[in-house]
Amino acid sequence: MSPRIVIAGGGLAGLAAAVALTDRGFPCTLLESRPRLGGRASSFHDPTTNTDIDNCQHVTLGCCTNFRHFCERVGLQDFFRREPALFFVGPGGKINPFAAGWLPAPLHLTGAFARLSYLSWSDKLSLARGLKALAGPVSPADESQPFSAWLTKHHQTPTTIERFWFVVLVSALSESLERISVSHARKVFVDAFLAHRDGWYVDIPSVPLEELYGGLLTEWLTSRGTTIRLQSAASQVEMSGDHVSGIRLGSDEVIVGDEFVVALPFFRVMSILPSMLQTHPDLQGIERLESAPISSIHLWLDRPIMDLPHVVLVDRVSQWVFNRTVVGASTNAGEAKPGVVKVVESGSSLEQAHYYQIVISASHQLASKSKSELEEIVLQELAEIWHEAAKAKLLHSRHVTEHRAVFSPLPGVDLLRPSQQSPIPNLQLAGDWTKTEWPATMEGAVRSGFLAAENILRRMGQPAAVLQPPLKTAWLSRWLFGL
Ligand SMILES: Cc1cc2nc3c(=O)[nH]c(=O)nc-3n(C[C@H](O)[C@H](O)[C@H](O)COP(=O)(O)OP(=O)(O)OC[C@H]3O[C@@H](n4cnc5c(N)ncnc54)[C@H](O)[C@@H]3O)c2cc1C
Repeated sequence: MSPRIVIAGGGLAGLAAAVALTDRGFPCTLLESRPRLGGRASSFHDPTTNTDIDNCQHVTLGCCTNFRHFCERVGLQDFFRREPALFFVGPGGKINPFAAGWLPAPLHLTGAFARLSYLSWSDKLSLARGLKALAGPVSPADESQPFSAWLTKHHQTPTTIERFWFVVLVSALSESLERISVSHARKVFVDAFLAHRDGWYVDIPSVPLEELYGGLLTEWLTSRGTTIRLQSAASQVEMSGDHVSGIRLGSDEVIVGDEFVVALPFFRVMSILPSMLQTHPDLQGIERLESAPISSIHLWLDRPIMDLPHVVLVDRVSQWVFNRTVVGASTNAGEAKPGVVKVVESGSSLEQAHYYQIVISASHQLASKSKSELEEIVLQELAEIWHEAAKAKLLHSRHVTEHRAVFSPLPGVDLLRPSQQSPIPNLQLAGDWTKTEWPATMEGAVRSGFLAAENILRRMGQPAAVLQPPLKTAWLSRWLFGL
């Protein structure tokens, strides 16, 4: 008889475990507390535009091989655009295209770095030295310090710190440089920039996340026998002797099973685990994990302000601007053509609107700002760069701040992260916060789900390699940096 597998949590970690197991002929029961799947990577309906909008723009990189594999297995890969270039807007408003040249990794981006107009030649030299040093092994002394201390030790100029290290790392890790460990910073640069030509490519979903996970993925899972129960919050993991026997829901119904995955956020998980795990030394680190916020400001303007699909702003409060009208994820419900949407104003009249999303990671310092103050700052910044933005009329706006968007990659954080195999043999933990060797990302979440699935398959006597290998390190990167 096929084992009964129960997964609590329908974020990417739980979904990845469900996909890996369903794909190998073991359908599951997936319990999700909210009315939709996707967890932190999900959409909500905006009645004013009658569109599904993402809580925040989610992007993935070429080095995220597990997330990519997950999408390919279930047929989602065609709903991502691979961006051939990034665009950095310097403090003076100059747009700097950034794309790989013909040289092999790790030199493929040298030309792009060299052309950044807002760094001087001495900044670029300091940066090259810094990158070379970062490619080396991390000493225990460095690992105990925040990355900001490492930058000072390696004589990085204030300009490179503000305009380069901060810009890249705050987007990748959603934390300030004082709250990032050296090994997490190193991972970003090695995987995305140094090890392989394709690591840095940015993939952007071209439809709302709800369409991916609520639509296509749900259909893929359910048509293969997996049961998805939305609005089914797990309230307790039930024990029978030394093994887990079921998951109790808020309604008191118990979903019995043989194998279990608990894929909840770290700040929820302890509340449902059995008492024997509450004090277990392997799980004591969970309650010491800290979080960082990400804010997204959604603006619908009466005119296009830029042609580019996205830009990264340097030395400003706004960090990324995504032109959702160009990327194509804003479509009024019931209309086929992505692009310009209609905004219902004053209850009745419809206006054509161009949709922009501004992302501010590690937005701790914005907590005291009101919606209108923040909107004013962002609109002012856009107007300083694009004349059309100064003339544009704001038709509609939404603000979303996810206060616990990601766990903070503080020095020593990896020692706090438990492995997927819990101390109870038939209970797996999953989530971007478990031990994945990745920061809090969609890749990290998928890796955790794949690792949990591998453990279950092994326990069922059907071992399989679910976790995907990273991109193969380029020979020159191995030779130059020993990567
Ligand atoms: C604003 C924002 C922007 C981000 N941008 C990016 C990005 O650009 N690129 C990137 O790679 N990553 C990004 N991330 C991080 C990424 O979204 C997460 O790392 C990833 O989605 C985490 O997945 P997860 O499954 O581990 O956790 P979650 O997504 O938190 O999933 C946990 C699930 O468990 C459910 N749940 C909670 N309690 C219960 C219960 N009692 N019973 C049942 N279900 C329950 C939740 O509703 C949720 O669906 C961003 C995150 C945020 C918040």
